[in-house]
Amino acid sequence: MNTAFLWHNGQFKPWAEATCHVSTHALHYGSSVFEGERVYATPKGPAYFRLAEHTARLFESANVYGIEIGYSPEQINAACLELIRVNRMASAYVRPIVFRGAGGLGVLPQEGAPVDVAIMALNWGAYLGEAVEKGADVCVSSWNRPAPNTLPSWAKAGGNYLSSQLIAAEARRGGYDEGIALGHNGLLSEGAGENLFLVKKGKLLTPPTSAGILAGITRDSVIALAADLGLQLEERDLPREALYSADEIFMTGTAAEITPVRSVDRKNVGNGTPGPITRALQQAFFGLFDGRTEDRRGWLEYVDVV
Ligand code: PMP
Repeated sequence: MNTAFLWHNGQFKPWAEATCHVSTHALHYGSSVFEGERVYATPKGPAYFRLAEHTARLFESANVYGIEIGYSPEQINAACLELIRVNRMASAYVRPIVFRGAGGLGVLPQEGAPVDVAIMALNWGAYLGEAVEKGADVCVSSWNRPAPNTLPSWAKAGGNYLSSQLIAAEARRGGYDEGIALGHNGLLSEGAGENLFLVKKGKLLTPPTSAGILAGITRDSVIALAADLGLQLEERDLPREALYSADEIFMTGTAAEITPVRSVDRKNVGNGTPGPITRALQQAFFGLFDGRTEDRRGWLEYVDVV
């Protein structure tokens, strides 16, 4: 999975040399923010999908916690692009992370305490395996998402993924591919690492960004692609039972891409196979990377391999 080089605090290093001390603040208190990005193999070479938006979200997440990144967004983007070149990769999953480093064990870090910045590129296929084709079997989790004004859900912070781990672990124990969580109010929120879409009578429905979700970049892309396809879409509060009467359901995320859901709590969604709207959106999305879908919004950032 790992690659020859990663970028750490301004330098490219062999993978094994980028280590940190056990007193690292983020290990104790979850004080990290990160991104998950994909580089796709396109006919014009490797290209990042929406790199600028991912970097912008990284800075927004850091800002929520007052973590000073110490590099500009342009420097982070340049390092992301160069990392693909130095590792000679055709495609990748890329993980930039910013975390409070070793510099004292107080909950509140001292002024000027170190912040580490690293970017890793990994060889990673489909996150939920063959579910991207066949559809995932999911359950509704007994764990709720954090309530508003507890752990900020728009910030992609390491600590938030304790909630995701509980949801995913419960699902796997029950023999499911993934778990879907309800928000503090009992309404639909999102998956452990994915946003959620339903289709009902030809219309797309998705919980609003106020539903304790990460404002996903794939979610945003699907909303735009749905408009291109002339599909109706409503962002609105949805009760749990909407899952049991949906014609189609799918989940979105950088890792999960567009993954159909074929059953919820062992009840089939539609006829238990990915539906036509899910398929059309998958085609439009994956078409961006093989040239079948025009990149109208400049979402692809080419690595320019020399
Ligand atoms: N929600 C959660 C909790 C996630 O971890 C992710 C993956 N980053 C998403 C939604 C989807 O976000 P994106 O499309 O930006 O990857």
